[in-house]
Amino acid sequence: MQAFQKNSDIFYLLSEGISEGILVVNAKQQIVATNSAAQEMFGYKKGELEGKQLEILIPGRYRTVHEQHVKTFIEKSEKRPMGGGQNLSGVRKSGEEFPMEAGLNPFQLYGATYVMALIIDISERKSIEKELNIKSEALKSSINGITITDALLPDRPVIYTNAAFEQLTGYSNDEIMGKNLRFLQGTDRDQPGVEEMQKAIDEGRSCQVEVRNYRKDGTLFWNEISITPIRDENGTVTHYIGIQDDITKRKKIEQERLYWSKIFDESMNEIFVFDAHSLQFIHVNQGALKNIGYSLEEMVRMTPVDLKPDYNEARFRKTIEPIVKKRVEKIEFETVHERKDGSSYPVEVHLQLSQLGERAVILAVILDITERKNYTEKLERTVAKRTKQLSEALEVEKELNELKTRFLSLVSHEFKTPLSSILTSITLLAKYTQSEQQQKRDKHIETIKNKVRYLDKILNDFLSLERLESGKVNYKIDTFPLSKVVNEVVYDANMLLKAGQKIQYPHDIDDIDIHFEEKILELALSNLVHNAIKYSPEHTVIEVQVNRNGNTLEISIIDEGIGIPENDQKHIFNRYFRAKNALLDQGTGIGLSIAKQHLENLGASLWFESEENKGSTFTMQIPISIEK
Ligand code: ADP
Repeated sequence: MQAFQKNSDIFYLLSEGISEGILVVNAKQQIVATNSAAQEMFGYKKGELEGKQLEILIPGRYRTVHEQHVKTFIEKSEKRPMGGGQNLSGVRKSGEEFPMEAGLNPFQLYGATYVMALIIDISERKSIEKELNIKSEALKSSINGITITDALLPDRPVIYTNAAFEQLTGYSNDEIMGKNLRFLQGTDRDQPGVEEMQKAIDEGRSCQVEVRNYRKDGTLFWNEISITPIRDENGTVTHYIGIQDDITKRKKIEQERLYWSKIFDESMNEIFVFDAHSLQFIHVNQGALKNIGYSLEEMVRMTPVDLKPDYNEARFRKTIEPIVKKRVEKIEFETVHERKDGSSYPVEVHLQLSQLGERAVILAVILDITERKNYTEKLERTVAKRTKQLSEALEVEKELNELKTRFLSLVSHEFKTPLSSILTSITLLAKYTQSEQQQKRDKHIETIKNKVRYLDKILNDFLSLERLESGKVNYKIDTFPLSKVVNEVVYDANMLLKAGQKIQYPHDIDDIDIHFEEKILELALSNLVHNAIKYSPEHTVIEVQVNRNGNTLEISIIDEGIGIPENDQKHIFNRYFRAKNALLDQGTGIGLSIAKQHLENLGASLWFESEENKGSTFTMQIPISIEK
């Protein structure tokens, strides 16, 4: 003690020059000297500590152990840092504990043993350490993948990765260390995010990008990478910190959203979204903007009422009330939309209540029904046209019915005359009982035969007509000599000839074979020959001419009869039509039309030339060989 007081000036000089705290303790563990750094550290005034037991600077719980330690130490008297790597604590006058480090130096002075303790308050270092520890723990346990790359080494290798990064990529720390992180992109290098990151690195700035990366197992994940450069005191970038986040899920949602918004925008229908209360448009798709002619900026200041010339606000609000009040799920109505250029078009409006965040909105899908309207109008026109056609057809049908009625009365008339003449002949026949009256009997028998034949013809015509109309005709094509039919027809016709009438038979037809429907040829030819006889006066010639014309045969029946008045010629082939100069002769107006239709059905044709009071030529043109 004495000695220290004696040398206190020297001690003072020496000890005040250093920043560590100095405590000198004697063998009794009494403090004999302190420097101001020690006083400050422990919170005592100058001179206050001297003479006190060392233990007042030691937290209570360590005191006993400590006292023993110091004792042993003094006895062994060797220099060593205190604490042996343990955490030492001191206690300030205020009772506050603080971490410290101490180095102990025993020495002898004037025969007494002292220990000089050099004390450093390491509270600050500890707190920095703690902070660093926390930070490093934070890095380690962060759920984001964290990487640190060395910007000064060639190809910027990874020097740190955390567990989350290993988990994110599926690569272990060892596999990643020392590599450039681009290996995560595999061959998928051509990405805007990669380009942007490269640029940021070149320019030494931070950036945030989204990049497609591939895990060790090859699966793709979207990596949101934020890189930040770390600079040294000279401003040189030494490291890059990368924070990586798997945003695959978000990206998927984003892509889906994008997809839906694309559908929304690209829909050919017009889609509008407007506020259910203010009615103002919130969004309008491209299809709608295109058709309506307003821009989106213009639209968001408008309401659906502005597009609907037939609506005012009150009416529109009333219309949408059921969906706004949720009484119904959707409503539909037709109206007209007016474009910016003033033109308008018919629309079908579909409205539905929806929710945009907190906001009640109405989704409107608008169908442009111009086409449909046009179609309806067209349909209406078609219906009108068809109705007209139908009523015309009905008229024709009526006319036909009348014709039929007329025909029936005609037929009954046609039957009546021959039947009464048959009856007369039979009555007369009964009277000629004498054998020399044979000639008279023959005459009446002949009349009866003729009349029966005539009736048979009418009936045949009638049946033929019925079969033609009901489509029940079956043709039977055969090869037969033309002369066969001509002979039969001419033979039969001879019996009908009037006085002095002659039929001129065709030349050179003996070796003409014809492939046709025999019955039809016979029907047509006999019809034409009978007409020629009927509509020619006595003492005239009826000529049957046959000409070969390539692969066709032309059979003409030429008469010198009453001819057909020019006005009536166009109707001659109409069913039941009879020319006005023929009305005195018996007839039904069926024969020609039947003949023509049958011939045409079989690929043949029939036409005529005629001059009133001069005569007529009816010609059939028949293919020599028709394919079945
Ligand atoms: P129909 O002889 O029973 O009246 P057709 O159909 O055979 O019926 O003839 C229709 C009409 O054509 C006849 O009523 C007649 O006016 C006219 N016609 C036909 N053939 C001749 C002919 N050879 N000469 C003059 N008129 C004819």
